[in-house]
Amino acid sequence: MDTDDQEMNGELESSLSEMQNCTKNKGHSNLIPIEDFSVDDLQFNFRQKELVELIKLLGYLTVKVTVPYCSPERPNKRRPCNENSPRIGTGKICDVRKVTSLSSNERCPCSSCASSGSPANSWAEIKIVTSSSVVFDDDEARHATCLFGFDNADSQGVPLEGVGIATLEKEICHLQCVTHDLQLADELASNLMAYKSGRVRFFNDYKDSNVETKLIAVVSHPHGQFKHVSIKVDPSTDQDVSPSKKNVLDTCEGSPGAPAYILDKDKNWLSTYC
Ligand SMILES: [Zn+2]
Ligand SMILES: [Zn+2]
Repeated sequence: MDTDDQEMNGELESSLSEMQNCTKNKGHSNLIPIEDFSVDDLQFNFRQKELVELIKLLGYLTVKVTVPYCSPERPNKRRPCNENSPRIGTGKICDVRKVTSLSSNERCPCSSCASSGSPANSWAEIKIVTSSSVVFDDDEARHATCLFGFDNADSQGVPLEGVGIATLEKEICHLQCVTHDLQLADELASNLMAYKSGRVRFFNDYKDSNVETKLIAVVSHPHGQFKHVSIKVDPSTDQDVSPSKKNVLDTCEGSPGAPAYILDKDKNWLSTYC
């Protein structure tokens, strides 16, 4: 085991004890490990195998964001920042773009290519949407790592290196990450497409149905642990459940930036967060 692995295990151990002692959401009874999530966890109006698959696809696209750095530009009112304990959040893959240096004048922006005499000639840029309380500027983005595939306690996941910010709007940050694994990029892109078309299909069926409740499904890495799903059914149809409001669901440390899938008659939410 090398030092990085030891640090990783230490971080996971302390986040596990933080989870056990959590006072914000005691017992975490609303959090379902993503691999155990099934139709039984949905209210009977929503008990469809395809809906479980759609929420699991959202889970597939969800990553754990770790930032062991505080930008001097970070406003004080933002989340407290401490470099000794990395900031943990959740994000969702929202765009995948493959690039080759032969067809463009670009150079791979990852740190190993920046210092290499023979940089990779093809790579993929993965855009991840998260909260600006997790990643605030380019400086923080370059220290960020997005861990893809942390689905259960034993999975290692694949780290994606942060290279900068694509866009920043108030609470929402689009973080740019890079991988040289083009096969992974193809997989991410095809699952992203499947998620988008599944969401449109469900919205079209649901808006014409007589179901009067909204379904909200959030995938997060609570306290930096592996992926969990939480489900809420909102009985009020007239109340705005704007996802920018942080009280959509009880949230724990590690949840900022977590994607929410909202099945709502009024709108097909394009991108949602808690
Ligand atoms: Zn590179
Ligand atoms: Zn908690």
